[in-house]
Amino acid sequence: MAIKQAEAQSLIELREVSRSYGEGEATVHALRGVTLSIKSGEMVALMGPSGSGKSTLMNILGLFDRPTGGAYTFGGQDMTRLSARQQASFRGRRIAFVFQGIHLLPRLTALANVELPMSYARMAANTRRESALKALELLGVAHLKDRYPSQMSGGQAQRVAIARAIAPGPDLLLADEPTGALDRKSGELVLQAFQELHEETGVTIVLVTHDAFVGQHAARIVALEDGQVIGDQPVTDRLMAARQPSPTGGQS
Ligand code: ADP
Ligand code: MG
Repeated sequence: MAIKQAEAQSLIELREVSRSYGEGEATVHALRGVTLSIKSGEMVALMGPSGSGKSTLMNILGLFDRPTGGAYTFGGQDMTRLSARQQASFRGRRIAFVFQGIHLLPRLTALANVELPMSYARMAANTRRESALKALELLGVAHLKDRYPSQMSGGQAQRVAIARAIAPGPDLLLADEPTGALDRKSGELVLQAFQELHEETGVTIVLVTHDAFVGQHAARIVALEDGQVIGDQPVTDRLMAARQPSPTGGQS
């Protein structure tokens, strides 16, 4: 289980990021000064009660929304200085998003669904096919490549949706409650797929979930409450705490 983050670079830096909606009395402060640093190759679970600002934060990370205040750099580049068009282009090349609902196109097979975003990205047809098949394989759903969404279970469809997100080779994979529409068992399998994906590719993942068992899957848990980070704990610390005395000679 090689987690490639030993001397990893910082990929994301958020400094005092705030986001408010509305004005005057009616102002809602969705984020109140979030400072967060995520290294390349990390897998982070973002947890917190409903309304704590998780989706707002994910939308800012994914360049779907802009902070009201504070700084956001990605790979050293200031994201807040980009125009909307530049943000869209940056997102297209570097960032992938998996949503709660499973938005596969019903008239396309799994393979065609995974290939579609890459055809917008002017990728050569054979490279596209290759990347799509590899992504389906990584998610353990290559055998479903010719099926239509109606011929898949919810968990299978969500794994195809994850394959679609990662096929173009993003640096950052964002997933906002990707198991929210699934029953517990399918949800666990999907979280496991994220973990395997992370182990096999080292892609940086930020995942929002309510599920307690995410602790077994993520390397780090960031807790949000009322628009602020109230906890940030690498899983290694929790493992160390659970296993006394601390293990020696472990592999990194
Ligand atoms: P979570 O994803 O943790 O449930 P959200 O980020 O969706 O939380 O919301 C955080 C807060 O911001 C909530 O109080 C929510 O009502 C408010 N909020 C989110 N989006 C909007 C919006 N577009 N307009 C007004 N308020 C919003
Ligand atoms: Mg949300």
